[in-house]
Amino acid sequence: MKTISSKVVKKFITKPPSLLSSTASLTSIASFNVSNKAFPSSLLDDFTKFCYQRDLPRAMQALELMHTHCIRADCITYSELIKCCLARRAIQHGKRIHVHLFSNGHLPKTFLINILINMYVKFGLLHDAQDVFDKMPDRNVVSWTTMISAYSAAKLNDKALEFLVLMLREGVRPNMFTYSSVLRACDGLFNLRQLHCCIIKIGLDSDVFVRSALIDVYSRWGELENALRVFDEMVTGDLVVWSSIIAGFAQNSDGDEALRLFKRMKRAGFLAQQTTLTSVLRACTGLALLELGRQVHVHVLKYDQDLILNNALLDMYCKCGSLEDANAVFVRMLEKDVISWSTMIAGLAQNGYSKEALKLFESMKVLGIKPNYVTIVGVLFACSHAGLVEEGLYYFHSMKELFGIDPGREHYGCMIDLLGRAGRLSEAVDLINEKECEPDAVTWRALLNACRVHRNVDVAIHAAKQILRLDPQDAGTYVLLSNIYANTQRWNDVAEVRRAMTNRGIRKEPGCSWIEVSKQIHAFILGDRSHPQISEINIQLNQLIYKLMGVGYVPDTNFVLQDLEGEQMQDSLRYHSEKLAIVFGLMSLPRGQTIRIRKNLRICGDCHLFTKLLAKMEQRIIVIRDPVRYHHFQDGLCSCGDFW
Ligand code: ZN
Ligand code: ZN
Repeated sequence: MKTISSKVVKKFITKPPSLLSSTASLTSIASFNVSNKAFPSSLLDDFTKFCYQRDLPRAMQALELMHTHCIRADCITYSELIKCCLARRAIQHGKRIHVHLFSNGHLPKTFLINILINMYVKFGLLHDAQDVFDKMPDRNVVSWTTMISAYSAAKLNDKALEFLVLMLREGVRPNMFTYSSVLRACDGLFNLRQLHCCIIKIGLDSDVFVRSALIDVYSRWGELENALRVFDEMVTGDLVVWSSIIAGFAQNSDGDEALRLFKRMKRAGFLAQQTTLTSVLRACTGLALLELGRQVHVHVLKYDQDLILNNALLDMYCKCGSLEDANAVFVRMLEKDVISWSTMIAGLAQNGYSKEALKLFESMKVLGIKPNYVTIVGVLFACSHAGLVEEGLYYFHSMKELFGIDPGREHYGCMIDLLGRAGRLSEAVDLINEKECEPDAVTWRALLNACRVHRNVDVAIHAAKQILRLDPQDAGTYVLLSNIYANTQRWNDVAEVRRAMTNRGIRKEPGCSWIEVSKQIHAFILGDRSHPQISEINIQLNQLIYKLMGVGYVPDTNFVLQDLEGEQMQDSLRYHSEKLAIVFGLMSLPRGQTIRIRKNLRICGDCHLFTKLLAKMEQRIIVIRDPVRYHHFQDGLCSCGDFW
């Protein structure tokens, strides 16, 4: 029997009364007498109304009638009724609803069964809950989680753990919700570590699934030391556990440790599986470790046509700025999905190959692959960087109609970038104002950036204030705002910004650049002299600056509209971390090899100019990836087109 919509029911009860099965029912319907409408009214409509009004007696009366006439309401209405029973602790009514839901061999939706289990749990009838649970054909995480937290709350810890193990055995992956509800349920009784002790006490700790679950839980709560301890206590290794620990570190952005463990795992003689390799690739991607990524690629080869792995490889090569490698993977892939295409399009666009990105988008459309949200972000990004303002506006305004995708935050960001780049600031402001939902900090940052480039102080102040309202911890924006005020001699405003920073304990993080040389990562921080070759690097840097000045380099000391530290001076500018990393790259890498640098802060105007001229003078390709974009320096030019 299917759920009957209220329209059908209306038709059903507007038939002559004689067709209804009993006069008793008729009296019942009439006796509701709640609406001023004359009988016959819609039974289902009344039922729904009673449920939402939390009128339990009348809702139950209507339910009995519906039961007699084999009428069913929708899941949401039943869940409202069950809530009502719970609120009044109406156990018998709850049981009656249970019978009705399963009557005539009907199987309610998993969603509704979960609500029923939850009802029994709340009534403290764990046997009934388990009975419903046992008979469920399709259990999902919610079902398992409900039972696990019920047992934990009832202090039946062994039972809760048993369910956790069974769940893992059935291959149902607990999600964060499962873990948090296990832990929440455990709260006060035992926290995570005590849960761990309990697992050891009942001898479950040797279970590979429990161990990997424990590692997952610790990792998800950021307790990586404990995760590693659980891992290290393991006597015999197991691939599942290795995967958990590696994924744990990779997801917590500790790529170094993830890679160290990956190497250990290989030494221990385990063959990496797809999932592990995917985690490791993500770690390489996060750190922009191209050489290590290439090493992992070798292991990926045996899963040559694994789509997920190939997509992870593509992403890694794109984010590491090696489009040649990305393209080689892309071309070799027999199976490509929309993620593969989007990754490649966005990768090309972000690395300065706008035309190629748009060409690839055309091929994708020809093949009939439907673009997704990310694809359009890549396309708009490409239009923006190629200066194709009209094309960008066309895609932005027609994306809903053409591809059924509503413009989101990232699309707006690209459009503000596009208009800002073209100097059409007032249109960018209009775009922000016409946005349906409230613009977020990222959108305002894109506008602020455009103002910075076009030196529009008034709009910049407005955008900066909006950013700080939404993200009061954004150090860069405070510094920028204070520099703008300083330049216009608004000293009171400068003092106020500085005070706000002090009060909120905000300090701008020091600039740091990383470069990978011989599979080792070298970090350079402004003012830090701990690198073993720092003296030589400084000497070389000074010589290079001297040589560059001979070909027209003038250090750019204009800090207006830059989010650099206020106390910048020409001398500290000289030793910005990316300059140190570039020089170290020139010293250590063979001629002809691309110098790839990752940076935590946006590159400053002086370093940008320095790198452009240096790339030409030294005939080197230099790639700098900052938190927002990629800069491909080659032959005196940068892929960002001097807008960043
Ligand atoms: Zn700099
Ligand atoms: Zn650039």
